[in-house]
Amino acid sequence: MQNTDSPIGSGPQAPRRSRRVAIRHGAREIFVGGGAPVMVQSMTNTDTADAIGTAIQVKELARAGSEVVRITVNNPEAAAAVPAIREQLDRMGVDAPLVGDFHYNGHKLLIDFPDCARALSKYRINPGNVGQGAKRDTQFAQMIEVACRYDKPVRIGVNWGSLDQTLLARMMDQNAQRTAPWSAQAVMYEALVTSAIENARRAEELGLGADRIILSCKVSGVQDLIAVYRELARRCDYPLHLGLTEAGMGSKGIVASTAAMAVLLQEGIGDTIRVSLTPEPGGDRTKEVIVAQEILQTMGLRKFTPMVIACPGCGRTTSTVFQELADSIQTYLREQMPVWKAQYPGVEAMNVAVMGCIVNGPGESKHANIGISLPGTGEAPAAPVFVDGQKTVTLRGEKISEEFQSIVLDYVKTRYGTQVRTDAVTEAAKV
Ligand code: SF4
Repeated sequence: MQNTDSPIGSGPQAPRRSRRVAIRHGAREIFVGGGAPVMVQSMTNTDTADAIGTAIQVKELARAGSEVVRITVNNPEAAAAVPAIREQLDRMGVDAPLVGDFHYNGHKLLIDFPDCARALSKYRINPGNVGQGAKRDTQFAQMIEVACRYDKPVRIGVNWGSLDQTLLARMMDQNAQRTAPWSAQAVMYEALVTSAIENARRAEELGLGADRIILSCKVSGVQDLIAVYRELARRCDYPLHLGLTEAGMGSKGIVASTAAMAVLLQEGIGDTIRVSLTPEPGGDRTKEVIVAQEILQTMGLRKFTPMVIACPGCGRTTSTVFQELADSIQTYLREQMPVWKAQYPGVEAMNVAVMGCIVNGPGESKHANIGISLPGTGEAPAAPVFVDGQKTVTLRGEKISEEFQSIVLDYVKTRYGTQVRTDAVTEAAKV
């Protein structure tokens, strides 16, 4: 057995070196790449022509933590609504930058609706959906010229469902000349990566700065995504937008997105992520934002919301009390964060443990900032609470949930509110 004196565990690799791209709206400036924290973004599913409905959903996504929100701009009505959406968001105090998603007619919409072009903070261009034949180059150039005119960054977003067929045919012909031809899958990977990089270089030739370009190559298979992004990361230094193109519904969508993105993020690949979940009928669109945040937070890459550590339960706890408490405290913490993140800096790093019985309850609770060990079947009806590793109180009776929530709030005020006061005193002392 090899004997080494180095500690176990090195965490994620350092982020791949990429250029830094700024996405701006008013005084808000968000950076992608160049060592900036991995940014979370999302996309609306409202009809963009419905300016109020779209503004409301953008607000919900931004409130859930989406740092940038993409909207489809698919027809003149949608393009005409974009400035109104932006104005409505500004009136509501929502400063999340808006990204316009363009396909087929983007060149025309961006030229015909200059207020739309100005109101958007970034454009997404799919090079496979820009046009056919000679028109393709002209229409791509028209979109890049608008981006240059208004100083907007662009994502060149290749998608395997709409891959440039002319390019793919060229790659197939080249492959046929090889003495040992590649598999069709390998040619497809090569076509995706080549499409992204060739179009980025073309945009640079047209005058768009390299620090205005983000790339993506979306596919719907986990292994395909990993293979394509490893190669994309190796061949360029543009920041990369990660995500499966169609992750799917429910647990499948969450697992597939997490499996693909976690491998790449662990290797330092990926500067912004979007989780493309198919919502349940009537489901909440903000779920994709929560999943994206949880991927980054559970990997230790960013902190957004206090984490609740809860045991899965087993035959030692037959009541649902601890499940209900874990759920209610998680919901409570998430709902408080829009206010808490300003009032109590650092609170997003807090851990709360909710455990079902005495086996692991006290031990896990001691490792958390605050933990509660609920009584398992046959145990005395008492729930010891641990604060910073010390047992402080034992809760009993029907009001355990409310009392525990109150203890958590007091802890947040004392632990993280003190930081605000200390910082304020330090600043006052400097003056
Ligand atoms: S802490 Fe207790 S209830 Fe929870 S999984 Fe472990 S043994 Fe079961």
